[in-house]
Order: sequence, then C-alpha cells, then structure tokens
Amino acid sequence: MLVVMKKGTPEKKIQAAVNAIEKKGYTARPIPGGDRVSIGILYNTGSVDAAHFLGIDGVKEVIPVTKPYKLVSREFQQENTQIKVGDAVFGNGSFPVIAGPCAVESENQVLSIATSVKKAGATLFRGGAFKPRTSPYSFQGLGENGLKLLATVREETGLPIVTEVMDVETFDLVEKYADIVQIGTRNMQNFSLLKRAGKSVRPVILKRGMSALLQEWLMAAEYIMEEGNNNIILCERGVRTFVKHSRNTLDLSVVSAVKKESHLPVIVDPSHAAGVRDQVICLAYASAAMGADGVMIEVHNNPEEALSDGAQSLYPEQFFSVMEKMTAIHDIVRKP
Ligand code: PEP
Ligand code: MN
Repeated sequence: MLVVMKKGTPEKKIQAAVNAIEKKGYTARPIPGGDRVSIGILYNTGSVDAAHFLGIDGVKEVIPVTKPYKLVSREFQQENTQIKVGDAVFGNGSFPVIAGPCAVESENQVLSIATSVKKAGATLFRGGAFKPRTSPYSFQGLGENGLKLLATVREETGLPIVTEVMDVETFDLVEKYADIVQIGTRNMQNFSLLKRAGKSVRPVILKRGMSALLQEWLMAAEYIMEEGNNNIILCERGVRTFVKHSRNTLDLSVVSAVKKESHLPVIVDPSHAAGVRDQVICLAYASAAMGADGVMIEVHNNPEEALSDGAQSLYPEQFFSVMEKMTAIHDIVRKP
C-alpha cells in the first residue's frame, strides 16, 4: 500500500501522517519523490483497507501495491534512483563504465590497467581481492593486500574502486577500502550478506544470480533497501542456459524489464556472460543499445598470464576502441 501525500505537504505534516499510520499498527516508510512524497506501508500480511489512511491530514490518495517487492518498485518510487560515485552517476541517463581486471594480482598490474582504462574514459576501477572461485585450488585473491593495492590505484588515478565482498565476516574490511561493494552472482540470495549490505554506507552492485528470476533478483535488492541502504545498482551478468558457445547467456531484455518494474539503475557485465573476449565486444555494444545505465568490463594488461578470467579480458587497446563505439551507440540511443 502506498499513501500518496498532497504536493508540497510540509515535512511536519508528513511526519504526523507517519505517526498516525504507525498508531494504527502499521510500519510506515516515507519515500521522497520529485513531485510528491509518498509513505509506503510495509510488513502488512493481508490486504489493507485504504479507508484507514484516507482521513489522515495531507493524504491525497492511497494506491494498492500489487508486487511482492515494495521499496525497490516503480510503484513506490516513480523517479529513477541516481547514484553518484566520483565523477560517475548511475541512473541519470549517462553511461558510466567500470573497468579493470577480474582479480588484483600485483601493484604493477593494477596500476598499468587503471592508467589505460582511465585514459580510455572509464570512470571506475574494478578488481577482486576476495574471489569466489569454482575450484578451491584456483587463485582465491590477495585478500587485504589486494584491497590495499586498490587503495593505491584510487590514490594514483582518482578512480573510485569497485570490489566484491564475499561474506559478512569480511564486510567491514572491504567496506573500508571500496567505494562500491559488489555482491556477486553466487551470493545474490545470501540473505545475511544482503542485510549487512543494507546497513552499509557504500553503494552496492547486486549481480543477478546465475539462474535468478527478475522477481527473485528484485526481492534480493529489497533485503538491502529494507535495511536502509537505497543505493543499489543492479547488474545483469548472464544466466545459465543449455548453450555451450558462451559461458552464460546475456539476458539483455531484462534491462527494460528491470526499468519497468524498478527505479533502481541497472548495468550490464558482458564479460562474465560471454567468457570469451570476442563476444564481450559485441555484447558491450548491445548493452549500450539496450539503454543500460552503464557497463562493467574486464580488462587485463596481460590476459594470457591472468590469474583468473584471462580469456574474457579485453586487451587495453581493444578496450579503447570498444569505449569509443559503445559511447557513440549510447549517444545515438539516448537522442530524443
Ligand atoms: C566478478 O565480477 O568478478 C564476478 C565473480 O562476477 P560474477 O559474480 O558475475 O560471476
Ligand atoms: Mn571475473
């Protein structure tokens, strides 16, 4: 249920309405909007009688919410959520690009890649210090030393850092170094991790689970938002299908589906979808054409020797040309 307040209702009256709703035994959450302030009713199990709220001073209308997700839904908030990190804004129609290696390997590696991707126009740097690997024998990441190298990249280049957090135990540590914390596909339904992310002061990139429905993905985001963190960037990274010609199948149609259902920005990671660099390039162009709110792309200065995901990492020269065309495609699509 969404209680919509009259345009220009003063803050004091909104608070009085929240109190009046809570006095009736409901949980109320004010949702600031451009034109109107609404109050969301949370935790109600059955249907709620609109008449309960219509008599409250300042209330314009009461709209039933039909979706299981609330805070993340377009029904609750009509305007796009915009998330500003450094020079990048997600959700305002621009096309921020996050680029960097799969994993942090050495100072020389991250600084070399960061310098290249910055020159090409990327505005955020990615790199994993804690790596969720399928095999326990694969490189697991440099841990805190990796985070320190990411901090060096930020100091040297000014690029904000995106890095994955794998568990609740290391959340405080990762949060200390990261500008955006990433929750990976394998953790999309790690509910304790989602709740911890909801208490974070950092924006969160929430990757879509490998076989998650849109509804399950949005419900995962709802966990984060319900704890108070509104700065969530959804990231499509391909889903598991029967095909063998690519690592995953990039579900580009989910971009428009997300935008219809939710006010949260949605970016695309063509690298983990494709698994091979030739496919990454055209999927990156397609992501821009789809109207995504940005992309995340893996780039490596020496992919042949990469400790993870070398085959899908672009060479820095390739990334330069991809940036140019991708940005041009975004501009064409955005033209009124
Ligand atoms: C990553 O971005 O480094 C990663 C592991 O991606 P995903 O969770 O999508 O597999
Ligand atoms: Mn990777």
